[in-house]
Formats: sequence, structure tokens, C-alpha cells
Amino acid sequence: ITSEEQSVLQRIEEENVKFLRLQFTDITGTVKNVAIPASQAEKAFDEGIWFDGSSIEGFVRIQESDMRLEPDPSTFEILPWRSNGDDDHASARLICDVVNTDGTRFDGGPRQVLKSVLEKADEMGYSVSIGPEPEFFLFKTDEEGNATTIPHDTGGYFDLAPKDLASDVRRDIIFALEDMGFEIEASHHEVAEGQHEINFKYENALEAADNIATFRSVVRAVAAQNDLHATFMPKPIAEINGSGMHTHISLFDEDGNAFANDSDEFNLSEVAYQFMGGILNHAEAFAAVTNPTVNSYKRLVPGYEAPVYIAWSDVNRSALIRVPDAAGASSRFEVRNPDPSCNPYLALAAIIGAGLHGIETDADPGSPVREDIYEFDDAKREEYGITTLPPNLERAVDALESDEVITDALGEHVTEKFIQAKRSDYADYRTHVSSWETEKYLEKF
Ligand code: GLU
Ligand code: MG
Ligand code: MG
Repeated sequence: ITSEEQSVLQRIEEENVKFLRLQFTDITGTVKNVAIPASQAEKAFDEGIWFDGSSIEGFVRIQESDMRLEPDPSTFEILPWRSNGDDDHASARLICDVVNTDGTRFDGGPRQVLKSVLEKADEMGYSVSIGPEPEFFLFKTDEEGNATTIPHDTGGYFDLAPKDLASDVRRDIIFALEDMGFEIEASHHEVAEGQHEINFKYENALEAADNIATFRSVVRAVAAQNDLHATFMPKPIAEINGSGMHTHISLFDEDGNAFANDSDEFNLSEVAYQFMGGILNHAEAFAAVTNPTVNSYKRLVPGYEAPVYIAWSDVNRSALIRVPDAAGASSRFEVRNPDPSCNPYLALAAIIGAGLHGIETDADPGSPVREDIYEFDDAKREEYGITTLPPNLERAVDALESDEVITDALGEHVTEKFIQAKRSDYADYRTHVSSWETEKYLEKF
């Protein structure tokens, strides 16, 4: 038992924690839980907790199903919405790594995949900082408590109460997040009715991915307490803005922000441009990971502030990468295509893998595009050399399959399981007859 583990045991004692939720995510990013009584905490640190990996999406075959969870003591947090009942028993969570029976790390665990990419960054001399901006909708529930797509309020971008009815809920969400160690920088009503964004401080990539997973659970739990349904579905309603998860990136080395260069027009260094070039070169392939659902591609269309075109810009939001007006320690850029339905560990692993490869190969992102690319015709896009993101999940998976840089970043195990899962989703979708089709054709033919 390490001293960090020892101090977690002490807090369990002091705060009267009765249950521990050991958490990890499956390949789709769904948070899985194994609850253990607090009395088992020491054993969990000592030898891990066994579970059946064959029942987890994307993990292992039935013949080799015994796996172990190893809790990461730095992720210990008391769950705020389970601790303020009449009794003073608290529950806490620990995020876990997954290991094989023989003690070796399990390559199919999403957290491990990200760790491996970050180890590579470390060997190159960098730590990676990530500031995610997950957007979400708050919808009303019906009498049975089921989710609807009726927005909870009619506010718009940066609206204030009383139009922004959800600001009370948002405040509850923020309190819960702060209780769990989040540093909240800002929150605002987004463009669409019922749509919100809460920004939390950038962190190293592993913590950022843990935070995204936690964020989604907290937002859903607090919304449910208010009889609302929070959704991170990328495009719940057609013809209005969808929900993105813009991802701000910078690299740090021993001298500070390695993306900073105050003598450059956009305050970016050579390394930043190379990293950006890597992202632009592999965006088509990592889209399958950062935009992993059939619905994701309904967000990536012109006109709703979501990117469609693979280009970068300092001014416009139709480009895949936007460089905000920031310098020095805050020099960074924003990757705009990810959406909050992604597995955050795999999404960050894929993006960072692409960027690091850009550094290794001296990739060139080209010049910024300052006009609104939504307005370009094909000829003009061709003249600028601008390609597009895949139009649907199937094409994205095709692109992923043939991109060695991204499949390397994900590792063999995850690549295989991920592609299988996505192809099966798409096959399901393809045979489904939607209401759009019946509305359009039923009476016409
Ligand atoms: N909701 C937009 C999207 O789908 C982003 C709006 C914004 O710029 O924050 O990416
Ligand atoms: Mg936003
Ligand atoms: Mg943004």
C-alpha cells in the first residue's frame, strides 16, 4: 500500500464512506461501476478487484474473462449526490485501470490506450494539456419520467434569467462538480433552446478524460434530481445547433508552453503548427473515434457552427481548428469536431496520436482560411486544397481502418473491437426505416 493509498483509506474513515464505486469505461465510453463496501478498500488497493471482462463491450472473449480493476488513488472523490441524504453515509468513486490475470496491463482498456499515447508524448519531451468544452441539452421528462426532446427553457446564447430557467439547475450542477474537485471557469446558455455549456479548467490529458467521464455522470444525475433529462447526444433536434465537445490543446515542455511563440502572428510555435498539421492530416480517420455515432454526422453539416471542412482558421467557426486570441502560457488551438458522445480516452488518444505524428513528420497545416468556408463552392474548396470530414459513420470507419497512425494510437485490440462495434451500429441503422422516409414516400408512391 502506497502512502497515497493510505491517505485515501484515512479519508474513507474520516468521511464515513460506506460504499466505493470502482469505475472504468467500456469501448463506447459508458461508465461501468462495481460497488464494493468500504471495508474492502484496502484489499482493492492491495490486490485489485476481480470482475468478468467478457460482459463488457469491447473487452475480451469468454474464455479469458477474468480481469482485475486497479483503483487509481489520485481519482478518489466523494459523490456529492449520494452524501446529502438523512443518513450521513457517503459514497465515493475511484477510477480504475484494467489489468489481466497475470498482472500485465490490459491493452483493451480505454484509459490504458490514452496512457500509452501520453507515454509516447513524454518520451518526446511533452506533457499534453486539454481543455474540453462539452455541450449538452436539458430536456423535460414526461409523466412516466421518460426523456422527451422538449427543451427545458427558451433561452439563447448567454441569456440570463428569467428566460434561462435552467440557470438554477446549472448552478446545482456546478456545485456538484466543485464538490468533486472541478475548477469551473464559466458556464453559459448555448445557442439552442435548452442547450448549455460549462467550462472547466484545462488539465493534463489523462485527468481531462477522467473529468469528461465524470462530468457526464454528474450532469445527468443532477438533471434527473430536477426531473430533467440531460443528453450529450450530438444532434438531438434537426435544424438547430447540435452539441460539440471542442477540445483545446497545448503541449508543455520543461520551458513551459511549447505551443507559444510571441513573434508569430497567431502566437504559435513550429511545434504547434506541426501538431496541427498532424491533426488535419488524420482528422478524416479519427472522426470515427471523436464522432462515433450515426447521429454525430448529422451535427457535422454546414450552418450550425460545427465544422465540416478540414482546415484551420483564427476567425471562423466553420473550420476544423480555430486558433483563439491567446498568447504565452495560454497559446493553444481548439479542435472543433469532437462531440460529447465519444469515449474521451480514445478520442484524446486519437487526436494526440495524430498530433505527435505531425511533430515527427514535420507536418504542414497550410495557411489559415479566413473566409466562411460554408460559403465556398467545390471549385474554391479545391483551389484552397480543403477536404471534408466523412459524411457518415460508415465512411469514417473506412477512413479509420486505413489510417495506420490512428490505429497505432488505439492499439490492435481496441481498433478491432471498435471497428466491429461501429460497423454493426451502421448496419443496424442502414436497415431502419425512418419517419423522414415514410413522410416523404408513403403517399407519393
Ligand atoms: N454547438 C456548436 C457545435 O456543434 C458550437 C458552438 C460554439 O462555438 O460554442 O460545435
Ligand atoms: Mg460552445
Ligand atoms: Mg469553443
